Order: sequence, then structure tokens, then C-alpha cells
Amino acid sequence: MMEEAGYRDPRAVAALLRAAKAEAASLHRPLVLMEVCGTHTHAIAEAGLRGKLAPEIRLVSGPGCPVCVTPVGYLDRAEALARQRNAVLCTFGDLFRVPSSTGSLERLKAEGGDVRIVYSPRDALRVASENPGREVVFLAVGFETTAPTIAAALVEAEGAGLSNFMILPGNKTVPMPLRVLAGDPALRLDGFLLPGHVSVVTGSEAFSFLASDYGIPSAVVGFAPTDVLAGVADLAAQRRGGRAGVSNLYGRAVTPQGNAVARAAMDRVFRPESSDWRGLGPIPESGLLLRESLAHRDASRLEVDVPVPEEPAGCLCGEVLKGAVEPPACPLFGTACTPDLPVGACMVSSEGTCAAYYRHERWRLAGGAA
Ligand code: SF4
Repeated sequence: MMEEAGYRDPRAVAALLRAAKAEAASLHRPLVLMEVCGTHTHAIAEAGLRGKLAPEIRLVSGPGCPVCVTPVGYLDRAEALARQRNAVLCTFGDLFRVPSSTGSLERLKAEGGDVRIVYSPRDALRVASENPGREVVFLAVGFETTAPTIAAALVEAEGAGLSNFMILPGNKTVPMPLRVLAGDPALRLDGFLLPGHVSVVTGSEAFSFLASDYGIPSAVVGFAPTDVLAGVADLAAQRRGGRAGVSNLYGRAVTPQGNAVARAAMDRVFRPESSDWRGLGPIPESGLLLRESLAHRDASRLEVDVPVPEEPAGCLCGEVLKGAVEPPACPLFGTACTPDLPVGACMVSSEGTCAAYYRHERWRLAGGAA
């Protein structure tokens, strides 16, 4: 296995860049590839790959930031649980500053709401055991990577008889939105760089439909510059050769079948259901709801008045999330909206596309060095 430094070796990066651009140049049109995962978006931005691959290859970002694709109504409901039922909200830090219709979890906490940042669902279990008289609601947001640990926490709560531990179901799964994007004629995507972490659980074969149903090549890749560029070169070669398949280039972590134990843990607790994605709308079988046997742990069933959801005015986050526009197309980017004063979710999250562009790419876009 390559040493970590080898994945960033400048000569290897330069060689892969040349190979990818040469493959794409023979197509005589820009190759449009989507990186699905927010961690890839940041890795690409940090290494300046977007600028280096242009103009032969255009990398666009997809809906791979779980906080960003969580609709504003989810946060509104969470805030209502705290305000109207005095529930304790436990959340990962990424969600804390995301704007809701009326504020954010951060503002709710400043106003006296009980919002606690946790690092795992088990931390929320501990909060529940320490506060037996209160409803403790874990905000369950994330993809296939986080769902198994949430499932394990729910099983543990059942075993321990922690009746006050609940979740607000918001987990989503990645394959179905890729069907929506692959079938969108306006996007004209030539290939997908598939999410490495999610693929550890799903397996690379879970994405074979992109080739069989849409004729679009895809590649599972890791997060170092050489990983990403190897994927880009692979997709360009598939396109040039008139082929479409799913290539697993992250074999040090991903297998074709994925992690069956993690998926079994999810299946025990969750069932697939339609889910609302910011930017993409409702998508069948793209969300994870609790099975009926665990309905008593579903905080979305608790009675609260929830306001009509309102997206932040002027924010194009929904368009950014489906690769229809790049963040600088938003008039608020870098002026009214920055990581310190974010208007939309895509500027808040550490995996958000607008945050990645702001941190790493605004110099290139302003005409400076990549
Ligand atoms: Fe929304 Fe800010 Fe991104 Fe514009 S720059 S799309 S306001 S998050």
C-alpha cells in the first residue's frame, strides 16, 4: 500500500493531471464530472484541482453534504420541539449554525433552549440517562456513514429501557438522488466521482445502475489528490473508449459488496421512505424512517406547531447542491454570505460547497493563483 505522502506526491499528481487532461482533450468538448461527496469537494478545492483540470474537464459539486441537503423544515421542527415541549436537542456541530425559518439552533440556545453538541449518538444516550424526566431528541442527520451508529444507539436505548431517548429522523441514502441527477438532461453529466465513505457501507456495486440504466461511468475514489485524479482519468478514459462501468479505485477501504453488518444494523431499525432534499425535492426511497416497532422513539410524531418553512432569501444553495450553478454565481457569495456570517447551509457546513469555494477557491476565481 502507498505511504500517505505518496498520495500527495507532486510528480504523481502532475502525471495524473496530464493523463486526465489528455484523455478528455480527445473528446473535443469539456467533460463534465460530478463529485458527489462534500469531503471530496473540500479535498478538490484544497488541492486546487478544479482550476488545474479546466478547461478540458469541468468538476461540479453534488448533494454530498448531509447538513446542506437537510431541508429547512427539519430544523424548524427540531426548534419547535425545544420551544414547545422543552425537549433537549442533541446535535452534531455542523447543524448548529444552519439557518432555519426563524433563526438557528445557535440562536435557540442563546435564547435559553437546551441544545447540546454531541460527537456521537451514544453521547445523546448519556444525556437521556442523566435527564430521565425530559424528552431527549437526537437530530439524526447524515448518510449511510452515520446511520449504522444511530441504529446501534437506538438498539442500546431499547435494551437499557431509556424511554426518553428519541431521534428526529433525517438520515438519507445516496443512490436515489444520483438517479435524479443522472436522468436530468439539463445537467448532462459525463461521470460521477462516487463518495468513498458511503461506499464503504453500500459497496461499489450499489452504484452499477448509473452505467446500466443511464450509460454514465462512475468511479469510487479516496480523498487524496492522486485518488481524485485517478478517478477523473478513469472516467475520461471510459468516456473516450465509449464504455460505462463502476470502477472501484478505493480498494483499500471499499469492496464491491460493502459492509453487510452495518447495513443489517440499519435494516433492523430503519425502513426506506421518501425524503425531501434541499434543491432536489422529495425523492422516493431516499430517506430512513424508523420501523413501526420503534415508533415510540420517533420525535417527528410528537405534537408541535411548525411554521411554514422559509428558505433564506436570495440563497442559491438548492441550485448549488444539484450542480446547476457554482457558488460564485450567487450574488451573496463572499459578500453578504461568508463562513462567519452564513446565509445558507452550503456556507455553514464543513462539507458545504460554498464554504469550500470560499476557503480555497476564491483567489483563483478572482484571478489570483490557484
Ligand atoms: Fe446560499 Fe451563501 Fe451559497 Fe449563496 S453563497 S448559495 S447565500 S450558502
